[in-house]
Amino acid sequence: MPFSTISPLDGAPLDPVEATPADSVARLVSRARDAQASWAVKPLTERMEAIYKLKDRILDAGEQIAKVLRAECGKPEGESWTAEVIPNADLVVHWVDAIEEALAPEEISLDPMSYPGKTGAIHAVPRGVIALITPWNFPVAIPLRTLVPALLAGNAVVFKPSEHSPRAGALIGKLFEGLLPHDVLTVIQGGGDVGAALVEAKPDLIVFTGSVPTGRKIAEAAARSLIPVSLELGGKDAAIVLDDADLERTARGLVWGAFNNAGQNCASIERVYVHAKIATSLIDKMVALTKTLRIGEDVGPLTTRAQLETVQRHVEAATASGAKLLCGGHATGSGLAFEPTIVRIDDDTDRLEVMTEETFGPVLPVVVVRDEEEAVRRANASRFGLTASVWTKKVTRGEQLAERLRAGVVTINNHGFTAAIAAAPWSGVGESGFGVTNSKHALREFTRPRFVLVDRSSAKSELWWMPYTPSLVATVKALAILRSASRGIGEKLRALIQLLTNAPKRLMGR
Ligand code: NAD
Repeated sequence: MPFSTISPLDGAPLDPVEATPADSVARLVSRARDAQASWAVKPLTERMEAIYKLKDRILDAGEQIAKVLRAECGKPEGESWTAEVIPNADLVVHWVDAIEEALAPEEISLDPMSYPGKTGAIHAVPRGVIALITPWNFPVAIPLRTLVPALLAGNAVVFKPSEHSPRAGALIGKLFEGLLPHDVLTVIQGGGDVGAALVEAKPDLIVFTGSVPTGRKIAEAAARSLIPVSLELGGKDAAIVLDDADLERTARGLVWGAFNNAGQNCASIERVYVHAKIATSLIDKMVALTKTLRIGEDVGPLTTRAQLETVQRHVEAATASGAKLLCGGHATGSGLAFEPTIVRIDDDTDRLEVMTEETFGPVLPVVVVRDEEEAVRRANASRFGLTASVWTKKVTRGEQLAERLRAGVVTINNHGFTAAIAAAPWSGVGESGFGVTNSKHALREFTRPRFVLVDRSSAKSELWWMPYTPSLVATVKALAILRSASRGIGEKLRALIQLLTNAPKRLMGR
């Protein structure tokens, strides 16, 4: 059945997309499993050469990407280039440069007394088939952050884009065309039922980015099959503005942090805690700036009607409870657009949905606080903990505060853009999930450690092998005395004699 049929920009019809039948997903996963085995044994340089070609393909397809994202998500063209095109080309370069070292076997150090003749190394082994399930808010960048390193590491991926951005998902498939052996990357289309079928098809790892309720369902289903799962979920990011902040830069940064992608960013600023001393001047600047934003050009529409309804509900409930609307506050009536909105929240309205639930729209609640202690306490009082920011001219003060914030990423004098840096880990705490994308930490999710030990000992036997003769106990007791810092020198000398007498017997199997 076709889905995602009209544009959120203006309701214009979109080309139909057909869903993948849910009952065919298990077969596709099984085909991916066959393909993965031969992909994983290819020399790494061959995989690197193939994936590197993606860099120019992404750059050359920039306009096409921007066009698709404009039509099915409503994204302003500039945002597509800055968030979905340029950083993805950088991502490819980063991973192709970093992958050899990241996958190189890591030798561990072994005590030759305890483990004579032995060497051991940890190898990073691909998981196998990864199920990748993604949302619609960054429909090109989010999947690529997993696809590039996961494929380089030797995995196969079955990728289900959001039902609200299927054309972007299909375009990703096209960008890879001819670079990978058949079935190493499979794009399947559809909604939650197709996603659930993918989870049930027992992949070797599920990488999920999306909402908390879906993340919870997937984690429960994965637990039943004991499949590892990586979850990147929602956010309610706080920005703390100290009394010495640069007002002009901070106002612009907060406005961008709150309204980019029409606020449909897991790392959108959804709460500002501003020091009372500068609150009026900062808020005035933010409001003035927000009033200059052009709907459609600077701030796109919401992508889904459900999202528009959530935004309206949060704003209406806030204003009904006494929150002060400083600008915006209404749907424009054109497509699914909503005016960029700033609301001032007073102390006793902290419990409002707009302060506790993810709004995921162009709504920025501002709270005036007495001092930074109050700001930190209130910023940390959230179920979510994705990113946070501190705005101050004193960088050291900002760094000290960063250590106290419950978040996976903290930026000082900026917000939320670091998902575009492939070398920097992106993760959260609490209900923001525990998955990691980007950086060497993400690679740990896409691979598992396999320890390989080689024994070159020519001894007949080992200390701990059978039969368990009296010389075994004598040897290990001597070892314990020699290793203990609380034993005296005389005792240690006697233990050394015991060790030298008994250990050779053990190595002879006596
Ligand atoms: P969603 O949870 O509704 O859907 C995400 C994906 O899950 C879609 O592809 C959907 O089809 C699929 N799905 C739905 N039900 C499923 C099921 N039972 N089994 C398997 N798959 C299923 O989320 P959304 O509305 O597309 O995205 C918005 C959410 O994503 C927000 O909460 C946002 O904060 C979050 N997000 C988080 C990050 C991050 O890095 N932490 C990044 C982007 C978006």
